[in-house]
Amino acid sequence: MSDAARILVVEDDGSIRRFLRATLPLHGYVAEEAATMQQAMVAVTSHPPDVVLLDLGLPDGDGIEFIRTVRGWSSVPILVLSAREQERDKVAALDAGADDYLTKPFGVDELLARIRVALRHAVRAASEEGAPFVSEIGGERLVVDLVARRVERAGAGGGSVAVPLTPTEFRLLAVLVRHAGKVLTHTLLLREVWGRAHEGDVAYLRVYVRQLRQKLEPLPAEPRWLVTELGVGYRLCTGD
Ligand code: CA
Repeated sequence: MSDAARILVVEDDGSIRRFLRATLPLHGYVAEEAATMQQAMVAVTSHPPDVVLLDLGLPDGDGIEFIRTVRGWSSVPILVLSAREQERDKVAALDAGADDYLTKPFGVDELLARIRVALRHAVRAASEEGAPFVSEIGGERLVVDLVARRVERAGAGGGSVAVPLTPTEFRLLAVLVRHAGKVLTHTLLLREVWGRAHEGDVAYLRVYVRQLRQKLEPLPAEPRWLVTELGVGYRLCTGD
């Protein structure tokens, strides 16, 4: 028996499946395959994988429905593989409970980075550890301690400085930290911070994202932590 993480590739395009079947084992993963939604459902229920790579354009079913069904009983990380013309499906998939997405064509490095984030997030969710979020990008450091409710920034060589946040700014940052590395949709962020009644108030979110960037980012116009996922939402980068 091997401890390697098992990746279920759900994709009807044989060339992409072959590519992933050849590539994933080179990086220490076990690749399993499903070419249809039905095969995917059998695979997910009979031998649960560690990560699912899900193509949204399958011949026999709706990927969004698949995500909702699986989410009924499993928190397995689901990364959606979407084509450019599936922009709206991608957002719906994230709202249905997918963890992240990759737009085709994607590079191997990008794919592996997303798989690592997904696996790490699954481990963190399982252990519920209260360790602070620490991220270093380009010589700048950001530390967010959710338990102590403290946020600190440190520049190259300099000491760290506490960053005062308003309660709403802190709630927004806390949601991002709890899902660090993952893309979060506008709807999800609005629901978590302001409640269901405000799911459509994207303008609120923009205001608070701008404020957080002013406080956290060395160059607020070129954010390195709180990055925009165009037409989808935001992602807090982990720096690796
Ligand atoms: Ca397809």
